[in-house]
Amino acid sequence: MKTVYLALGANLGRREEALETARRLLEREGARIKRASALYETEPMEVTGQPWFLNQVVEAETALFPLQLLSRINRIEVEMGRRRVVPKGPRTIDIDILFYGRFTIVSPKLTVPHLRFRERRFVLAPMAEIAPDFRDPVTRKSMRELLAALSGQTVRKWAGTA
Ligand code: ADP
Ligand code: MG
Repeated sequence: MKTVYLALGANLGRREEALETARRLLEREGARIKRASALYETEPMEVTGQPWFLNQVVEAETALFPLQLLSRINRIEVEMGRRRVVPKGPRTIDIDILFYGRFTIVSPKLTVPHLRFRERRFVLAPMAEIAPDFRDPVTRKSMRELLAALSGQTVRKWAGTA
């Protein structure tokens, strides 16, 4: 079994429900969720002028190999009606693999740790909440340290109805 961290995001429709469905489908596909962060409402970063996201990070255990996990994730995204219309644009669900144990993976389909997580407060805030001392296998910095080094992007803990 490997411990993996996954980032979930949704900015269309019933966002909280989408995250809940994604967690359920991840369990069905072989990722047992051990911890889940709070939900964070976050400002879109690259393509602006789209609805705010709800984001969450989960820690899961899985026996799936990295590319197997990625294809199960793709299946969930398709099943949940995700259409890739605009790159970085609105989506009903996005699931990214942040970490796969302490492995580093560089392949055409999959880069782990996720390439852009160090600049993303919407990833580092929930990561620092559930695993503050977990170290990035590349920079050796903890989630707490990486979060403290960031500036910009608004995220707020979310406690409302979608
Ligand atoms: P993004 O998440 O960057 O907004 P997509 O979800 O459409 O965009 O992902 C584009 C591609 O990124 C996927 O088809 C997948 O093969 C690739 N990818 C590379 N590394 C990862 C990772 N760590 N987690 C998820 N997808 C990844
Ligand atoms: Mg993605």
